[in-house]
Amino acid sequence: MAKTSQNPRNLTPTAESAAGRDGQHGDNPYVEPVTMEKIVALCKRRGFIFQSSEIYGGLASTYDYGHYGVLLKNNVKAEWWRANIQERDDMVALDAAILMHPRTWEASGHVEGFTDPLVQCLGKCKKRWRADHIAEDHDAANGELRCPECGGELGDARQFNLMFETYMGPVREDANRIFLRPETAQGIFVNFKNVLQFSRRKPPFGIAQIGKAFRNEITPGNFIFRTREFEQMEIEFFVPPPEAEQWYQHWMDARMRWYTDLGIRPDHLQLRKHGEDELSHYSAATSDVEYLFPMGWSELEGIANRTDFDLRRHAEFSGEDLSYFDQATQERYVPYVIEPSAGADRGTLAFMVDAYDEEEVAGRKRTLLRLHPRLAPVKVAVLPLVSREGMPEKARAIYEELRQVMPAEFDEGGSIGKRYRRQDEIGTPWGITIDGQTMEDDTVTLRDRDTLEQTRVPAAAVADDLLQRLTADWRSPKLDE
Ligand code: ATP
Repeated sequence: MAKTSQNPRNLTPTAESAAGRDGQHGDNPYVEPVTMEKIVALCKRRGFIFQSSEIYGGLASTYDYGHYGVLLKNNVKAEWWRANIQERDDMVALDAAILMHPRTWEASGHVEGFTDPLVQCLGKCKKRWRADHIAEDHDAANGELRCPECGGELGDARQFNLMFETYMGPVREDANRIFLRPETAQGIFVNFKNVLQFSRRKPPFGIAQIGKAFRNEITPGNFIFRTREFEQMEIEFFVPPPEAEQWYQHWMDARMRWYTDLGIRPDHLQLRKHGEDELSHYSAATSDVEYLFPMGWSELEGIANRTDFDLRRHAEFSGEDLSYFDQATQERYVPYVIEPSAGADRGTLAFMVDAYDEEEVAGRKRTLLRLHPRLAPVKVAVLPLVSREGMPEKARAIYEELRQVMPAEFDEGGSIGKRYRRQDEIGTPWGITIDGQTMEDDTVTLRDRDTLEQTRVPAAAVADDLLQRLTADWRSPKLDE
């Protein structure tokens, strides 16, 4: 949670006024050939992401993931689980409900403070705006505070709570009002005691969770960067208070490394420490992992030292003791919490933006996603060169073998060039073609998406070869551009 009225960091890129604002880095001198329009077009063309409810004209800033989008985002989440659960001894998983007891949000401070300042145009257009955005433009332009759309007068700012409300059960009365969770974190805090007891953990240890969160953002925008329904990947790492600083540092390093290990170029990633004036009420220190999106440097993930704020508040509101007794030192304390909080959709967008490439090959433009092979929705495409002379049958047999060990696709439609282009655009790292020679000596051609190198490999060895490539270290060819 980072929304409070006093928090000037709530500077979100908006559909209406994105350029140059987000990230507070002033003019962005970097011009990335990847535009958001190109990403949106590719996502639609190849069925990654669609506008939600499109046949009804669409629901603003709401998106549906299609086949390749689901596979890609699942891979992002799987890599997050791998790094934070599979490869660590000090973490456990959780999947808490979206609906929580309403007292949760009083304890967490969301009922009172999860707000953005909202102003409405009193002139022609009646549009609503984030007051802090307009104030910022106003400072920049040093002019009168007016509606950016129609120049009309603006009403007074009021605090707008970003939580979606609904009612539990058939009676719509205040006593039954509940919220769609605006962050997954609170589901972790309220389960702290359960996990302590039943997973036999002791600080330092962490709980990891991926799940949907909902925020009634005033100005969503920039495709899946800021939506009202999104997925978070959150860790609450509980530590003895004297170790908080060291673990805060640990998580900043670990999270930066996760992005670069998965192919994000280091010069497109930065850590930005929050100034005193923008820290949330619970935070002793916060740093944002920022990515250089087409609209400028913007937050991918927040890493915060939340102190003992949340556990103390939940202890106070619930009456449960949420302290920890350390047998070794005979000390009782309320753990501090380090929170790396990432967005699965923002992460997916960043991986796509970073992987997007265009190049000219033999006089033709090639568009491709140079995704890390572990993130690629499909790892290998099996393509018979012609649809006769036994090739489709042979190709199908190889495909059936490969799909047992990795996501594979069989494609016999259209020219081979067209099929390669389709696979390049969805980021498939390897293509196998079955041709006349296969029918003679049982070898296939293995094509590499990035280098376009083609090598002959015995059909029987191709699965092992690809598995080896999939587990090898990988380096984005864009690093050498
Ligand atoms: P912002 O300043 O961009 O509004 P925040 O600081 O409010 O973000 P947090 O509360 O720290 O965000 O949430 C953690 C992560 O959840 C963010 O880094 C982002 O990746 C993701 N996230 C937050 N709000 C949205 C949203 N509206 N749409 C998509 N992802 C989001």
